[in-house]
Amino acid sequence: MVTLAGVTSLTAPGVADEIPMLDSIAENERAAMQIAAYYHADSTFESRQLTASYDRDVVVGKGDTLMALMVKNGVAPREAHDAIGAMSKVFKPRYLKPGQEIVLTLQPSGAPGAADRLVSMTLVESVEREYVVRRDGDAFGAEKVDHPLKTEIAAAEGRIDVSLFMAGAEAGVPPGILADLIQIYSFDVDFQRDIRNGDGFTVMYERFVDETGTTVRTGNILRASMTLSGRERALYRFETANGTIDYFDEDGKSARRSLMRTPINGARLSSGYGNRRHPILGYTKLHTGTDFAAPRGTPIYAAGSGRIEYAGRKGGYGLYVRIRHNGTYQTAYAHMSGIARGVRKGTRVQQGQVIGYVGSTGRSTGNHLHYEVMRNGKFINSRRMHLPSGKQLKDEELETFLVARETADVQYAMLIRKDVEFASTAEPLPGCEGPDSAAC
Ligand SMILES: [Zn+2]
Repeated sequence: MVTLAGVTSLTAPGVADEIPMLDSIAENERAAMQIAAYYHADSTFESRQLTASYDRDVVVGKGDTLMALMVKNGVAPREAHDAIGAMSKVFKPRYLKPGQEIVLTLQPSGAPGAADRLVSMTLVESVEREYVVRRDGDAFGAEKVDHPLKTEIAAAEGRIDVSLFMAGAEAGVPPGILADLIQIYSFDVDFQRDIRNGDGFTVMYERFVDETGTTVRTGNILRASMTLSGRERALYRFETANGTIDYFDEDGKSARRSLMRTPINGARLSSGYGNRRHPILGYTKLHTGTDFAAPRGTPIYAAGSGRIEYAGRKGGYGLYVRIRHNGTYQTAYAHMSGIARGVRKGTRVQQGQVIGYVGSTGRSTGNHLHYEVMRNGKFINSRRMHLPSGKQLKDEELETFLVARETADVQYAMLIRKDVEFASTAEPLPGCEGPDSAAC
């Protein structure tokens, strides 16, 4: 004798919800067999086979159609057709993209040789949205299900002992935020040489969490600081009156310079920043630039906006690009493994645009970027150049910024202190009850 509870425990989670639906198709032979399985069979493998629904996870491949995917995974063509018809009311199947996930929930029909019944189909469009088709008697109904993400403000600090990346990882900073941190400081800091043991960073940033509290993606850095050789430089994200978003220092001066000191994707620079000096690679004459060791293929940025003067092979420089920024400054990039598409003599490039990729072409003994800065046609040391800075906030705009700066400083201090207090006394700060108090 099998009790109802016994049946429920025999079946997969969620299947209990499907049981009442059997009423509506009670005349159906298959259903009759299933009912028989519930009430007469004992806990044999067969009875479980008959009642348990199961999930099939499918990832959309290139060129796949929803129909073909469903049929390939055991859905009867007629059911697939009906389910797709229902789905079309909330999601057009032609917008299916490779890599999207589909979960098919199926239930054995109980009839020998018959295809399993489709109970539901869930198309996961993103972490924020899915489309669900559910069986409703003999028909299917579809709905869009949103999982809104929650914005949180997070803060972290770290001391650099080996590399910024290790310090960042230890402090729990997501890699994308660390890459952004390098990017916003790339005008001021040569990340391969200026970082020393004992330097430090702080960062306050946005993150988006799902219903389970997992960080799904990160947003903007709101405030950051780097302490290099004992000197702290903080930067604040601020939107100016004309709508430009930029990072400004404590005095309201834009961090953006006319040229970048690190014209390379900092995220992929060799990890031993500052601990070793890259040898001068095979050059015996005066070294005219700065070398950045980085893996082959690392994107190289235009250090400033300007016009391409040269893009191609150039003797010992290998694949080489030179940009003229204005009447005074030019920058050049050598030993590339490839030049970016569309970068040709005469084209205009924007600061930060990828112009090529790290390699070891020409007279070079290893993958690196050789970066040269010329002022009035003469090579200068890119590490010592004094470049005009970007916009300086003034008057009312400066006052607005100073208030925003103060708010960000207080917010950062509270977020960092909260972590410490929770760790030591387990007592929240006043007004900061609960883990979701993003404003604290
Ligand atoms: Zn060099």
